[in-house]
Amino acid sequence: MVVLGIESTAHTASVGIVDERAEVLGLASDMYRPALGGIHPREAANHHVEVLPGLVEQALERARVRPSEVDAVAFSQGPGLGPCLRAGATVARVLSLAWKRPLVPVNHCVAHVEIARVLSGLDDPLLLYASGGNTQVIAYGRGRYRVLGETLDIGVGNFLDKLWIGLGGTFPGGPALEAEARTGTELHALPYSVHGMDVAFSGMLTATLALHAKGTPRPDLAYSVETTAYAMLTEITERALAHRGRNSVVLGGGVACNERLRGMVRAMVEGRGGTMFAPPRSLCVDNGAMIAWTGHLAHRAGVSVDVPDSAVLPRQRTDLVSTPWRAG
Ligand code: AMP
Ligand code: MG
Repeated sequence: MVVLGIESTAHTASVGIVDERAEVLGLASDMYRPALGGIHPREAANHHVEVLPGLVEQALERARVRPSEVDAVAFSQGPGLGPCLRAGATVARVLSLAWKRPLVPVNHCVAHVEIARVLSGLDDPLLLYASGGNTQVIAYGRGRYRVLGETLDIGVGNFLDKLWIGLGGTFPGGPALEAEARTGTELHALPYSVHGMDVAFSGMLTATLALHAKGTPRPDLAYSVETTAYAMLTEITERALAHRGRNSVVLGGGVACNERLRGMVRAMVEGRGGTMFAPPRSLCVDNGAMIAWTGHLAHRAGVSVDVPDSAVLPRQRTDLVSTPWRAG
């Protein structure tokens, strides 16, 4: 059984092909990179429309799979930027109609959990999902994935991107800040904004830009920002573990590529006698393989939609999505 999955929630257009053992047979991605500033939703969507047909072909070629061998077509239904979601959904609908295969809607955040869960071999881990637009601590409970804590303003990745642009760099900021932070030595105090199991980043953004204006060296700023922001994420993850009586954590989202964040969460989890797992980077960032795998789980549990009922849901909440494959 082979499922093709399409991801297009934000800057990344991606097509993945996955079999019933969660083996990634083929993956092809292309990221929209604005020349200046952050993501412009319509321009990103135009980018996705241009690249997606080629990505479908590439993924099929890499997987050595013919269209007739694809059993279902899955797509990211939400949450995300409306125009970007519609680009991916349109391609998925076309393939589903042309190939006469079921169309399976997938929640993007749940897909991050499911790919990390299957790769980790952990049955019921908590997910720290740290990406551009989303920052959430997610755990399964009573029939749904529940958001235990989240950002109260912007996603941690958006925070890093905005900050890096403010420091004179270009999108994406996370990887560049990670490199810059390696030569930082001095830790500057920054707003540490944890509210129960939630976090906020806008105060840290303002404070860091103010230090920059005063001439504080950029490597020290990067080092201080990483230390503070990732400590906040580690703290809310630990609080969620303690409240839920869990001991294992998986990571997802582009910011989960970060070595410092991985190290801090690992130290915390292992200190509690638990296990931490981070997927390979290509499956931490937005990717079609996680959509295909979650489409697989959903399809096996009987989930599919007709084209007229396949509207995208830009504000879809993780905790409103039914997950029949996890029942029982
Ligand atoms: P996603 O939205 O999950 O595709 O992730 C994209 C976000 O991940 C962007 O905000 C990037 O700046 C961020 N990112 C990617 N790699 C890293 C890294 N090594 N460290 C921190 N942030 C990163
Ligand atoms: Mg994501």
